[in-house]
Amino acid sequence: MFNNLSDRLTLTFKHLRGKGRVTEKDVNQTIRDIRVALLDADVALPVVRAFTSAVRERALGAEVHEALNPGQQVVKIVNDELVGILGGQTRTLQFAKNPPTVIMLAGLQGSGKTTLAGKLGHWLKQQGHTPMLVAADLQRPNAVTQLEVVGERAGVPVYAPERGNVAGYDAAVEYGSGTRGYGDPVSVAKAGVEEARRQQRDVVIVDTAGRLAIDMELMKQARDIRDAISPDEVLFVIDAMIGQVAVETAQAFADGVDFTGVVLSKLDGDARGGAALSVAHVTGKPIMFASTGENTKDFEVFHPDRMASRILD
Ligand code: GDP
Repeated sequence: MFNNLSDRLTLTFKHLRGKGRVTEKDVNQTIRDIRVALLDADVALPVVRAFTSAVRERALGAEVHEALNPGQQVVKIVNDELVGILGGQTRTLQFAKNPPTVIMLAGLQGSGKTTLAGKLGHWLKQQGHTPMLVAADLQRPNAVTQLEVVGERAGVPVYAPERGNVAGYDAAVEYGSGTRGYGDPVSVAKAGVEEARRQQRDVVIVDTAGRLAIDMELMKQARDIRDAISPDEVLFVIDAMIGQVAVETAQAFADGVDFTGVVLSKLDGDARGGAALSVAHVTGKPIMFASTGENTKDFEVFHPDRMASRILD
């Protein structure tokens, strides 16, 4: 991810870094190059605009940094603004005063929620927590089994509705106004959180159903689950490969379930990276984690400053 963008920006900065004097013309040319590079990387237009106008304002202002030559100063400004677009500070999970901390996962089908549940569980376990996963994705018949496999691989227990134990699990039932499902995900989510409390688990991660596209029924289901379990964190998982629609999808989930943080998945892919660079700014919510592969350990805390350096170096 970002290889192309990174190469383009490196080239843009190459001649600027050595400059003892930077003219307004140099700044304007640099900003034009950055603008084209960002648009080519699929970064959303409002984000590109906000970014380039902030860089222009600061670069043409009387900002003097003793230790840097003017060319380096412009590069520093671009770096600072990129960190800002990516959310500024690193933001980690907020744990509940009274455990369990409830983390709900939301996002489109295929975005990487179930895989993430295992990764997050594994990571939390390494930090000394006692997580449990809850299978409240009852939309697809094999989603429960998939979470059980993921949990086993991560060494984290899974609460799943057993066939026969949950009303309607065996047969597709109506959920809400017309959604077909394999049981009532709201009851399962609630029961899972209760079970985690009974077992004195300190974090519970609730996997929920996704759809292939934004869908009001899905959003309602996610909202119903959220209202029933009052999560401390709602993490919106987004596939960084989806390109321009990322912004629209993120906005729909921000409005629909009001998530608290973003997880970028599939950052290991070779997509252009615009989604990753747009969602934090557009939704105003921090990117908290990145998923970088199919294995349990392909997971990291997202640091805006490190990501900016990775793009610009
Ligand atoms: P869900 O429908 O949101 O639960 O998505 P899944 O967790 O089932 O993931 C969908 C597909 O994407 C699966 O084939 C995963 O193995 C794959 N996947 C998930 N996260 C990543 C990632 O970070 N990188 C790559 N390359 N593949 C991923």
